[in-house]
Amino acid sequence: MESLSGLCSYVDEFRGFANQYLSNYEPVVLVMFPILSIVLASFLQSLIGVISDKGLKAALLGVFMSFFKLVPGVQKYIDGEKQKVVNKLQSSDKSKRDGWASELPKSGLGFGVLDRLKDEKANDVAWQGKCSGTVYIAGSESEGHFSLINEACAMFAHTNPLHLDVFQSVVRCEAEVVAMTAALLGSKEKCSGGQICGNMTSGGTESILMAVKSSRDYMKARKGITKPEMIIPVSAHSAYDKAAQYFNIKLWRVPVNKEFQADSRAIGQFINKNTILIVGSAPGFPHGIIDPIEELGELAFKFGICLHVDLCLGGFVLPFARKLGYPIPPFDFSVKGVTSISVDVHKYGLAPKGTSVVLYRNHEIRKCQFVAVTEWTGGLYVSPTMAGSRPGGLIAGAWASLMSVGMEGYLEHTREIMEASKRLQKGLKEISELYIVGRPDMTVVAFGSHNLDIFEINDIMSSKGWHLNALQRPNSIHICITLQHVEVIDGFLKDLRDSVQTVKENPGPVSGGLAPIYGAAGKMPDRGMVGDLLVDFMDSSC
Ligand SMILES: *Cc1c(COP(=O)(O)O)cnc(C)c1O
Repeated sequence: MESLSGLCSYVDEFRGFANQYLSNYEPVVLVMFPILSIVLASFLQSLIGVISDKGLKAALLGVFMSFFKLVPGVQKYIDGEKQKVVNKLQSSDKSKRDGWASELPKSGLGFGVLDRLKDEKANDVAWQGKCSGTVYIAGSESEGHFSLINEACAMFAHTNPLHLDVFQSVVRCEAEVVAMTAALLGSKEKCSGGQICGNMTSGGTESILMAVKSSRDYMKARKGITKPEMIIPVSAHSAYDKAAQYFNIKLWRVPVNKEFQADSRAIGQFINKNTILIVGSAPGFPHGIIDPIEELGELAFKFGICLHVDLCLGGFVLPFARKLGYPIPPFDFSVKGVTSISVDVHKYGLAPKGTSVVLYRNHEIRKCQFVAVTEWTGGLYVSPTMAGSRPGGLIAGAWASLMSVGMEGYLEHTREIMEASKRLQKGLKEISELYIVGRPDMTVVAFGSHNLDIFEINDIMSSKGWHLNALQRPNSIHICITLQHVEVIDGFLKDLRDSVQTVKENPGPVSGGLAPIYGAAGKMPDRGMVGDLLVDFMDSSC
């Protein structure tokens, strides 16, 4: 815990450390002073650029920190403190890796590997009914569904749509998955122009990466934009940050409104001649709230820019929820101005992990997604998405899921999870210490507390086996309700009531809990440091 409070008040500590340092090493510092001044000057020069990106406070702090880290010893101190936090975040401690294979077995194990895998699988924690999102199918149906999907995947595990002359089977499966998905999202409506097309990808992130890349290249071709910028609400998925980094696009993050929806007026103020893309989610991952897609569509249409709608979570729920009579605002290609959509079939589509669909309003935009190579000695090459070789098995698995569940199946699932969501929200409202964040449109429900530390409540829930998602700004947690939870909502609410009671009677961090880290990370003004921490954590986890 010492390391945490240290981190929390680290600026003060460094100041103390620096004073002490300066008095001990005055001669050294005198020599270093001119050098440091030069360094500082160059920082100030870059400051101007940084300010426009990050805002004044963060920029000044960033420069202060980078300057300060040059003092010998400071970097080492920071690294030491960081390591302590990383160790604490680590879910599997390193000593557990004893005995992990680090080279090929001398003689192959043959079918013996299956027993080894069974043992490993048995070591995973019990996730059934306990994880937010994660596994979307459940109940008596699920056994049949899993074995059906697994068989479909296995039948086509050797196939690769890169070789479309050889594997016409999976080429057809992909086209049908795309068409069936598009038909749920407005492709059959007259207003869409009948040109909607798309591809399968490895997941929501790749679908979003592809939509951003296509929008960038489309806007370059149409408007000659060479310094592309995109504008997202702060609730949009982190995949857009990834896209901005990968594809060298300037990213503007705009605060959401009081209802936690994209603020289209604020977004409009960021649009300039370099804007290629704005983004809305239906719903957003953090709070499960649908952005005003029609307003965003009007903006996109007015300025002649692209609008991507993130339906990764909602694509296989909202069309059915609307059919069931739930009041769902417009969110698909029927909205003028929407140019692309991402839909995860591996979430509520119940397809195997590693499957998603990206859709475009017309072929002109989709063509910007493709990469054609004419000068390779390996021959003429063209590929639609990020991957070269692609898993035909997963495509067949997704096809099997959509075809076997069918319209009636998805309608029934949606009815069950929407009702579970309503039951959960009703129960949450009865816990006076908690409040629901905004008004959830679907099956993701986020909640926080005005008088208790919600992350401490989350730690108690974790000790009861629940795996929920921790959110920030505001500090809250969410559960993404799937078929796994339909039968356990009452149990969830009971555990939650008990956890709230425990924290109320005994506020403060529980041993081994993550609440202090979330709390400290949220308050740390130097976001670069928090980012470094995450990278170190990842680096030591895999
Ligand atoms: C899950 C999700 C994504 C990213 O999907 P991955 O499959 O995890 O890459 C993007 N946007 C939203 C709204 C999501 O829920």
